[in-house]
Amino acid sequence: MTTGAAENAGSVDNAGSVEDAGPAENTGEIPETMRAVRLHSWGSAPTLDRVPVPRPGPGEVLLRVDAAGLCHSDLHIMDSADGVLPYELPFTLGHEVVGTVVAVGDRADSGWIGATCGVHGVWSCGDCRKCRSGRDNYCVQLTGPIGGGTGYDGGLADFMLVPSARHLVRVDPSGGPALAPLTDAGLTAYHAVVSQPVDPSGAIVVVVGIGGLGHLALQVLASRSPEVVVAVDPRESARELGLRLGAHHAVDSVDAARELVGRLSGDTGADLVLDFVGAPDTLDAARLMMATGAALVVVGSAGGALTVDKKGSVPRGWRVEAPFWGPHRHLDAVFDLAAAGGLSAVVEVRDLDDVLAAYEDLRHGRASGRLVVVP
Ligand code: NAD
Ligand code: ZN
Ligand code: ZN
Repeated sequence: MTTGAAENAGSVDNAGSVEDAGPAENTGEIPETMRAVRLHSWGSAPTLDRVPVPRPGPGEVLLRVDAAGLCHSDLHIMDSADGVLPYELPFTLGHEVVGTVVAVGDRADSGWIGATCGVHGVWSCGDCRKCRSGRDNYCVQLTGPIGGGTGYDGGLADFMLVPSARHLVRVDPSGGPALAPLTDAGLTAYHAVVSQPVDPSGAIVVVVGIGGLGHLALQVLASRSPEVVVAVDPRESARELGLRLGAHHAVDSVDAARELVGRLSGDTGADLVLDFVGAPDTLDAARLMMATGAALVVVGSAGGALTVDKKGSVPRGWRVEAPFWGPHRHLDAVFDLAAAGGLSAVVEVRDLDDVLAAYEDLRHGRASGRLVVVP
């Protein structure tokens, strides 16, 4: 894939502190500079910088960012050691974005100008065997950066460049900042539920981690008539949210979930475990609470690992999936579901100037649903 997005950030004036980078003057035109939350070194927090507003090159599209969600993956990215991720520094974070098209480059359709759009964050090639089969989230050409905020400049900024309008989905702007989480938390949760091999209808389902992704997964599940849904989260506010969004039971640990599932299932186990944490303890417990023929869907990446063997330590016919984000067609489906009232992100809105404090709140579990920044 070629994109000018990363290079187009141009020379960066690292303002160094949040106070130095006030909002750009609103002239109604595209300003020369903007604020952007940039990661400069692995294992440290990003900084709020002032950088040039990129100008769209051939085929590219410039969005004024309306809202950008904060994902736990941003914390994994900034916490990563040097050499772990195939991304070059610096780049602008923010991979969960809704914005309004304000300019297009040569050969891009000017009919997009003025449209409010969700950005599909997997900037796939559109042409490889995976892309052609509708599995563009597994595009084989994406071996380095994935999209804006995951290696290329993302949407935690006043403006964001997208390499092609192919990655946009038109949305109704009346949905406001709650639209942004649908592009990642919503899409990933939706793809995780609909692409795994167990039919949730009539199933005993366990959802681990009722944060940004988990609270949307519960809503996708609710429309598929599971017999029992058990939500697991150590935070009381997250358990309350889970019960409001379709869980029948909410418990504070995976061990408590295992015991409850044992009782509810007559010791047969759960049919589907969706793990939005992926820690050693959650994966261990998931393995031990699965029924025969169950599926374990690992979405979280908190450092857990699974050992696969045929000696009986996992139930017969078990399956494990580790889905990644979701294809463009599922993003269309997510926005359709939301427009029909079947999916809605619970959000707390923060200012771009307060983004570093917001990341700390996310890290320490002080947010409900999704934190969304409005520039
Ligand atoms: P979040 O911080 O919003 O939510 C995580 C939730 O898990 C919190 O409510 C927290 O209290 C809860 N939790 C923590 N430890 C727990 C435990 N041991 N048992 C039960 N609950 C526990 O995070 P998020 O943005 O929803 O992301 C969740 C995970 O999914 C992260 O690891 C993230 O990197 C990953 N992710 C994966 C993909 C993908 O495509 N595979 C996409 C987005 C996010
Ligand atoms: Zn994410
Ligand atoms: Zn491809």
